[in-house]
Amino acid sequence: MPPGGLDQRGEQLAALAQLTHERATDPRVADWLATCEQSPTLAADPTSDTAVNLRWWRHQHDRATKLPAALVVEMSRATSAGKAAWAAAREASDFGQFAPSLKRIVDLCREEADAYGVPEGGERWDALAEGYEPGMTAAGVAAVFAPLRPRLANLIARLADAPTPPSDAFTRLKLPRNQQEAFVREVARAIGFDFERGRLDVSTHPFCSGTHPGDVRLTTRFADDNVNDALGSTMHECGHGMYEQGLPTEHANTPRGAAVGLSIHESQSRLWENQVGRSAAFWRWAHPQLQTFFGDQTEGLDHAAVVGAANRVAPGCIRVEADEATYNLHIMIRFTLERALLNADLSVTDLPGAWNAAYQRDLGVKVPDDARGCLQDIHWSMGALGYFPTYTLGNLYSAQFFEAARAALGGAEMLDAQFAAGEFAPLLGWLREHIHAPGRSLTSDALCERVTGQPLSPEPLIRHLEEKLLPLYGLNV
Ligand code: ZN
Repeated sequence: MPPGGLDQRGEQLAALAQLTHERATDPRVADWLATCEQSPTLAADPTSDTAVNLRWWRHQHDRATKLPAALVVEMSRATSAGKAAWAAAREASDFGQFAPSLKRIVDLCREEADAYGVPEGGERWDALAEGYEPGMTAAGVAAVFAPLRPRLANLIARLADAPTPPSDAFTRLKLPRNQQEAFVREVARAIGFDFERGRLDVSTHPFCSGTHPGDVRLTTRFADDNVNDALGSTMHECGHGMYEQGLPTEHANTPRGAAVGLSIHESQSRLWENQVGRSAAFWRWAHPQLQTFFGDQTEGLDHAAVVGAANRVAPGCIRVEADEATYNLHIMIRFTLERALLNADLSVTDLPGAWNAAYQRDLGVKVPDDARGCLQDIHWSMGALGYFPTYTLGNLYSAQFFEAARAALGGAEMLDAQFAAGEFAPLLGWLREHIHAPGRSLTSDALCERVTGQPLSPEPLIRHLEEKLLPLYGLNV
């Protein structure tokens, strides 16, 4: 679309938002739901597929009816304009260009939260987060983050002082894009992404869009001097894609056949990217593949060099380039700031200053400009406040699920031997059965309890990071 089409697209999206909102809030829907809910047979068993669907349709309908149509249309217009203003401001690295749009969006988000209704004892953030991760509250997120933050900070500080950090020579190697692409396609195929029911293409910002288990589209990206970036992005999006491909086809287009929420979705991408893709066992298999795809360009790199490069920890100012340990601190900063924006403890004008101060305090990095500071992410320009914590919750779920999978599949040695042999089907099979097949029949919390026997805890992620990273840096666990 040429830039001149921007305003017209904004109007078209607003019209569509109005139409879908009218459909979703049609009083006949309420009648249909009431009839089904009162049926003595349809929803008699609360665990039945029908009961699951009725509960979610009721949830969606009740939520939609709380929003006035005018607000839905206004939000659609504001975020269309906001995304364009954000892109231009980021290009110019000038927050001032985006500030009026963001102020408008934050005001509308507050109105939206008030329309949904702030839960008893809760805050506006909770009302918005419900749309991304049902049941997630600011207080709940803060309680999970509180013990995680000091443990991560301590780990990162220890790694920063380590006398023998792993080399990043492998990551800095310049490798042709066509060879990188052949390599990551082979990895995607090997870990189980089904190319008969999905595609992999290229875009600046990798994503996964699933409309049906039979049609899942992924993108990845390539940098000449960082094959790990392409590999990590590909495995991440494949994790999302394999979840979509594993959802029950017979329940497609109903809640029963949909993903639980964004946190569980992210747990699937992180599990393949981090628990698998950055493990020594995975590289026992992937390292010889380098020879196949890159020939003598990767000669001289030993096993320790490729594993080390995949696991370098270095605080920086860009979230999407962050390593596995510092990543969660980026999320905690965003969570604190968006919560303050919604509660009106922080004004939009003061955002860059608050952002830069948080980066200095929590990550020890100086943010050089707005583009690499508070303008780096698209989320807030889309009105997506209440979204960021799902990334860290995904990391936590991924570590907890992986421990359960490992125990069920014969232990660490067994799983490592499978990875080293390029056998990922047992792990995918376990995920299919325990995480993918249930669709949305359980909430995230209930799924976690059922699969791991425990509520969500920061311990498995801390264990995973400490037990892997400290030895790689020559330190004792
Ligand atoms: Zn993701």
